Amino acid sequence: MPLLRVAPSVQTALDALTQAARHDLSCACGPSQPRQRGRDGLWIYPAALPSGQRVPMLKVLQASGCERSCIYCVERCGGQGRSLALRPEQLASAFVDLHSQGRVFGLFLSSAIHGTASATMDRMLATAELLRRRHRFRGYIHLKMIPGCRPDQIDRAMQLATRLSVNMEAPTAAHLARIAPGKNFETEILAPMRQVSRAIAEGRFARAGQTTQLVVGAAGEADREVARAAAWAYSELSLARVYYSALQPVPGTPVADRPPVAFGREHRLYQVDFLLRSYGFSVDEIEFDAGGALPLDVDPKTAWARRHPERFPVEINTAARGELLRIPGIGPRAVERLQRMRRQDRLRDIASLRAAGASWRVAAPFVLLDGKPAERQMSLW
Ligand code: SF4
Repeated sequence: MPLLRVAPSVQTALDALTQAARHDLSCACGPSQPRQRGRDGLWIYPAALPSGQRVPMLKVLQASGCERSCIYCVERCGGQGRSLALRPEQLASAFVDLHSQGRVFGLFLSSAIHGTASATMDRMLATAELLRRRHRFRGYIHLKMIPGCRPDQIDRAMQLATRLSVNMEAPTAAHLARIAPGKNFETEILAPMRQVSRAIAEGRFARAGQTTQLVVGAAGEADREVARAAAWAYSELSLARVYYSALQPVPGTPVADRPPVAFGREHRLYQVDFLLRSYGFSVDEIEFDAGGALPLDVDPKTAWARRHPERFPVEINTAARGELLRIPGIGPRAVERLQRMRRQDRLRDIASLRAAGASWRVAAPFVLLDGKPAERQMSLW
């Protein structure tokens, strides 16, 4: 068991523990968004709030150097991660200092496991408790629920946090067993998510809800399995968001020799996620290859449209919202704008697609403008 020690200085620990937190994307910040390093060496991440507003977030572990052995994790037992911790009062004070300087808006707090999951969760709850009670911090706190923590701790977390998350990591229990020995999919991952979901349904946790994260490409899972897990989690566990993290092997882990998983695969899963959440698609409508992989050379909405020539072209002036949403290159905001614009005047020109904010080159082959194929106007542009 690695020896957990409190860092010689809060600054040293914050530097190490914020760097260690970079692998978790569940607060909507990660490799796709650049990180900022502050004057005194702290890592502060731009993150998206549920409202879409982007704010600087202190993303930090309460402790690093874990006692468990998830094969993808740099913090795993016996790995290269140092065992280091901040006491709740140290972390709370450091955060309040940064917040009072206007350098951070909120806190994303996770932790490697030391002692039991409950003991680890207790330290995180103590930090949040200090922020809320002693420091009267009313802002954004995202707490990661440690797999294996107690139901009463989850209840407490719901009283303290703005948003909660527990990482599913894999789409099924069998996949999780391959990459995270010691984590029980049903009792340690899904049970806490169900508890939060019930509280949301009963109006007892009406803040920013819960999210989760899946590691992509670590367990030999197919994209179809990942998409099914996400669709199920959205409908059954009232998740606000699912995040996907392409495996990027790190030295000192059992997957160190594997090639990194292409970010293009992660990107396609995010596109499918949007189709499920915002466009009314079901997983059965998504095109996968025989092995269950998403095609990397075409986005999933265009792949669907090409497979359904009977649904196109769509007349922009008369199509229902649901039909407009199915057109490649046209998203929910562009649909709203097109609906507004066509109430003012009949749309005849491909420029109206541009004006609505649609990806007009992508959309043109699939639409009619006042009865004429928009594609014919493309040469003019
Ligand atoms: S529980 Fe697994 S994923 Fe979480 S810190 Fe420990 S080894 Fe890493």
